[in-house]
Amino acid sequence: MAKEDLECSFCGRKKPETNLLIAGLDAHICDRCIEQAHGIVLEESKQSDNSDLSAELMLRKPQKIKSFLDEYIIGQETTKKVMSVAVYNHYKRLLQPPSDDDIEIQKSNIIMVGQTGTGKTLMAKTIAKMLNVPLAIVDATVLTEAGYVGEDVESILTRLLQAADYNLEKAEKGIVFIDEIDKIARKSDNPSITRDVSGEGVQQALLKLLEGTTVNVPPKGGRKHPDQKFIEVNTENILFIAGGAFDGIEKVISKRLNMQAVGYSASMSDERVDQANLLQYIIPKDLKDFGLIPEIIGRLPVLTYMNPLDAKTLRAILTEPKNAIIKQYKKLFEMDDIEFSITDGALDFIVDKAIEYKLGARGLRSLCEEILTDAMFEMPGSNEKELKVTKVYAEDKITKTTLKKLKAVS
Ligand code: ADP
Repeated sequence: MAKEDLECSFCGRKKPETNLLIAGLDAHICDRCIEQAHGIVLEESKQSDNSDLSAELMLRKPQKIKSFLDEYIIGQETTKKVMSVAVYNHYKRLLQPPSDDDIEIQKSNIIMVGQTGTGKTLMAKTIAKMLNVPLAIVDATVLTEAGYVGEDVESILTRLLQAADYNLEKAEKGIVFIDEIDKIARKSDNPSITRDVSGEGVQQALLKLLEGTTVNVPPKGGRKHPDQKFIEVNTENILFIAGGAFDGIEKVISKRLNMQAVGYSASMSDERVDQANLLQYIIPKDLKDFGLIPEIIGRLPVLTYMNPLDAKTLRAILTEPKNAIIKQYKKLFEMDDIEFSITDGALDFIVDKAIEYKLGARGLRSLCEEILTDAMFEMPGSNEKELKVTKVYAEDKITKTTLKKLKAVS
């Protein structure tokens, strides 16, 4: 048969009428039929995905969500509660059938304020793990307005698509964690003659994404250029969680609280303010005074905070979460038939050093790594089958120089 006579076995179009005709064993299919069939497949999987999600939700009421978070995250009770409700409402909104009562449930995007290393990323990761939805973690500091060096705001969605293995349906119900949102705050005390590349412009670009819009996303990332094929991503049902340390926001909060105390002396002076943890009093206005534009704050309506980690919490982080650091080492040693144990004294020592050198929760892992590297190098393959880490053992492995080094990288 001449090439021109070949035809699509589905719609009957001749080869010259198609852009592409793919040969099978004894049939052919054209590009248009492929696209149509693809549409049908997507539609089908969307329906089954929705029923999956609804089954998920039936099982996972806010209290269930919180218990799941409890397994992985120590403390942070308020945030876990707030997040459980926000996530539950978000997915309830997603399942909402079109109704005629004009009540449209707004998105419950979340903003978490708390020092670095207090578990903000862990919170977003755990939620995504529980819901089995794709998660993209992006750093707000690399985002710039289109046309500047850095990444366009759309790159956030490229990451989400990648996390979803390019399954658009899944990506559109995923979670985006935007870290260091505080770094794009407008710096009012630093007026610049040139455009504010990293600040307000990026906030403006983020607005639409947070609210829900359709964006042309370059699937492989990188800059937009005219020849590139785009994937249209609708952000309507994507849950955005923003996090930031907001260094210095305590001053803003404290100032506001003091002013209130003057204005309403009778009511406020009676209440004791916990100066050690001012973040717990945070309100949206504080974010505005810090430099986030009101529109952004409005689109992140759920505001919550992370408590600083005290010794008791750090100690618990070492041993209690489902995949606690110590449990991980135990498993690693077990794989070499080595029985690993660590004394309370050694654990307290690790916590003391993490606090003394301000290494935070992330430092716990580095400290353990320093203590155990020699054993992990020497023991596999040797005749030694037991490792008991005592305080003396730990002290021996952790020198002042190591601590200084760890502090420098933390
Ligand atoms: P952030 O995003 O706030 O900077 P991360 O979530 O990246 O902090 O936390 C760093 C690491 O510290 C996590 O991988 C986790 O192991 C540990 N961690 C921090 N806070 C907690 C917590 N509350 N419970 C359990 N682990 C925690």
